[in-house]
Amino acid sequence: MQNRLAHVAALLVALNVALSQGSAQRPAKPDARLERLKTELGQEIDRMHDFSAQMVDMVFSFGELGFNEVETSKYLTGILEKQGFAIERGVAGIPTAWLARWGSGRPVLAMGSDIDGIPQASQKPGVAFAAPIVAGAPGHGEGHNSGMPLNVTAAIALKKLMEREKLPGTLLLWPGVAEEQLGTKAYYVRAGLFKDVDVAMFTHVGRNMETAWGLQGSYNALLSAEFAFRGTAAHSAGAPWRGRSALDAVELMNVGWNYRREHLRTEQRSHYVIKDGGDQPNVVPTTARVWYYFRETDYPKVMELFETGKQMAQGAALMTSTTLESVKILGSAWVPHFNKPVAEAMYGNIKRVGLPTWSAEDQQLAKAVQKLLNRPERGLDTAVAALGAPIPEETRRGGGSDDIGDVSWNVPTIQLNYPSNIPDLPGHHWSDAIAMATPIAHKGVTAGAKVQAMTALDLLLTPTLVTSARDYFTEQCKQTAYTPFIGATDQPAIWLHQDIMSKYREQMRPFYFDTTKYKTYMEQLGVKYPTVSR
Ligand SMILES: [Zn+2]
Repeated sequence: MQNRLAHVAALLVALNVALSQGSAQRPAKPDARLERLKTELGQEIDRMHDFSAQMVDMVFSFGELGFNEVETSKYLTGILEKQGFAIERGVAGIPTAWLARWGSGRPVLAMGSDIDGIPQASQKPGVAFAAPIVAGAPGHGEGHNSGMPLNVTAAIALKKLMEREKLPGTLLLWPGVAEEQLGTKAYYVRAGLFKDVDVAMFTHVGRNMETAWGLQGSYNALLSAEFAFRGTAAHSAGAPWRGRSALDAVELMNVGWNYRREHLRTEQRSHYVIKDGGDQPNVVPTTARVWYYFRETDYPKVMELFETGKQMAQGAALMTSTTLESVKILGSAWVPHFNKPVAEAMYGNIKRVGLPTWSAEDQQLAKAVQKLLNRPERGLDTAVAALGAPIPEETRRGGGSDDIGDVSWNVPTIQLNYPSNIPDLPGHHWSDAIAMATPIAHKGVTAGAKVQAMTALDLLLTPTLVTSARDYFTEQCKQTAYTPFIGATDQPAIWLHQDIMSKYREQMRPFYFDTTKYKTYMEQLGVKYPTVSR
C-alpha cells in the first residue's frame, strides 16, 4: 500500500508539472474567431436537430448486437459518404468496423462511439413499462444508438465551418463495434487505426453532460475468455459409466470459481454464462463451453485472475477426465485514462452549452420509469455536474469496463458523457432503452454534439492545446506502460451473437424506422408520448 501511495503521489506530481508546462505555453489571447464560430456551430447544430433525431431513432430501430451491426454501419457510412467522407470498410479484420475520413493536415481528431445493443432489451420507446417491440429480441438497453449520431452531427457541422474558414485538420469517425463484448478497440489499436491521431474524442450516453480527466477509478480492466471442454458421449441411462461429461467440467469450474470468490479482492468483478451445455439430457455432453469476464483494477491483477481461472479449468478437466480443449480470448479492456488539458477545454464547453430544456413530458416519463424501478422519483438532471478527477487508488471499488481504455493508453483521449438517458437505471436492461428514441435522447444528442464540435474547434484553432494534450499523454505513459491483453495471434471474435441475430433479424426488420412515412420512431410505433400506464 505504501508503495502504491508513493507511486500515486509521484504520478500526481508529474502530471502537475506536465500541466503547468502546458499552461505556460498557452497564448495570452485565444484565436479571435473562436467565440463567434462556437456560437455559429451551436446554431447550426440546433438547425440539424431533426436530422440528428432521425439518426438516433434509425439506429435504435436496428437494435443490433456486437459484431452484427450490419444495418447500423451501412446506414451511418452511407450518410458520411454522401457528406464527402472517404470510407474504409472492414477495418482491423472486423466486417462491421469502418473508418470515415475527411479533411487534410493536422490536427487529426478521431470521433468515436459504441454502436451495439444488448440481448433481450427490445423495448418500445416512450413507454414506462415492459413493452418489447419483438419479444426476446435485442435492443438498445445501453443507449449505444445515440453516440455515433452525435458524432456525425458534430462532424458535419464542423466540416462546413472548416471548408468556409479554410481550417486545416482531419476528421476521423469510427464506431465502437461490439463494445459490450469489449471486442474491438484493442484490435483497432493493433491495426494502427489511431497511429496518426492527435486526439481521440469518444462519446458515451449518460445522464448528465460530463467529462473527466485522469485514471478512471470507477472502471475495471477486463479480460473475457471462453473455456471449451471435450468429453465422451454415451447413453445417459444405458451406459453412463462409459461417458465423460464436458458439462460436468464446466459446472465444476464454476463451483471452484465461486468458492475462490470469497478469497479474492473486493474490487474484482467476475461473471460467466454457459454458451454450450450439451444437446439433450440422454446424451452425455461431448462439448461444453463457459464464457467468463474477469475484471480487476489493472492489467497485472486481471492477468492474475485469468491464471486462476485457467487453473480452475484444468482442475475441472482433471476431476472429470475430460480435456480443456481451448481457452480463447474474446475481448479485453484497459482502465481508461483521460487527457487533462482537453477535458478542461471540454468542460468549458459543457458549461457554455449546459443541459437541455426538459419538457413536462420528458420529466413525467423519467419519473414514471424511476418509480417503476423503485428508485427515488427525481426525474432528469437540471444542473451540470462537476469536472471529474481521479479518485485515490485506495478508494477504488471496482466496476464496469470500456475498451476505450486501450485507446486512451495509445493516444490522448477524452470522453464526453451526454444527457440522453434517465438517471438511476440498472444498465444493460430494457428500461435503459425507454428514453433512447424519445425527445430526451434527441435533446441530449443535440446538446452533446455542440460540446463535441466546440471542443474539436478548440483543438483546431489552438495548436498549444494539442501540444499540451501530447505532453500530458507522454507523462501518463511514463508511469505505466501499455501491454495489450490480446496477443499477436488473437483474432477478433466476429462470430459472436450471429446465432441470436439470425434468430431475430427477420422479425425485427419490419420494425426498422421508415423515414419516408414517419417523422419519429414513436410515431411509427403508435406510441403516445409519454405512455406511463397500461
Ligand atoms: Zn456503453
